[in-house]
Amino acid sequence: MKRERTPMDYFELVETFPKRGCALCNLLRRDETRCIDGMVYGFMDTDEMREAFGQSRGLCNEHGWLLKQNKFGNVLGIAKLYAATIGEVLSIIESTPVQSDASAVRPSRLERLLNTERRGSAQPLADRLEPEGRCMVCERIDEREADYVQIIDQYLTDGRFQAAFEQSDGLCLPHFRHVLRHMTDPSRIDLLVTVQTHIWRQLKAEVESFAAKQNYEHADEVTEAEGESWVRAIAGMGGERGVFGMNRRSD
Ligand SMILES: [Zn+2]
Ligand SMILES: [Zn+2]
Repeated sequence: MKRERTPMDYFELVETFPKRGCALCNLLRRDETRCIDGMVYGFMDTDEMREAFGQSRGLCNEHGWLLKQNKFGNVLGIAKLYAATIGEVLSIIESTPVQSDASAVRPSRLERLLNTERRGSAQPLADRLEPEGRCMVCERIDEREADYVQIIDQYLTDGRFQAAFEQSDGLCLPHFRHVLRHMTDPSRIDLLVTVQTHIWRQLKAEVESFAAKQNYEHADEVTEAEGESWVRAIAGMGGERGVFGMNRRSD
């Protein structure tokens, strides 16, 4: 019988667990950069790309700025894509009339009393300016994230994988939730929760100890692990920088 090959992502995770921070966040940060560099290097100057970019109104905030830092410095490709994107935005504005007559309607007495605003007549334009597709880097990262979650579920009880996970900083809270939602095997769920709990108990103790030593008498007793424990706590609860985005809108 042919033995199933161990997937590359298994090895990627095993090798990433010993590094500082959530392994999923770390791998996704790397994948983001790879995705952007791959995009910049190979597929930018095509009609499909210009159309997709126009539909998603460019990349999201995080990935747009990451695009600026692409290692190939392909400024021309980026300029062409964003010219197409702005073109799309302009054509939507030109083809979506703002209902100017609505502004002529006087607010009722009740509306004036309650100081409530009428729904803006430019609402349809705002709606049409919403992206019609997701940021393509976000989309790719979601796929990669699903792959890693699948591997964690499948291999958590594998000896080498489990040992690497136990010695890691654990998962960040958003990724812990994600993996928990995906898992169905009770013994694996149990193992994940046990290991993660142990890691967070230790982190909590370090943060508390760090806080307790913030005074003249004990300041020089702060260990290296305690000294940066509060930064690990930020990453542990919210994920590494840039992985989850700001998740906020301006409206
Ligand atoms: Zn994470
Ligand atoms: Zn994005």
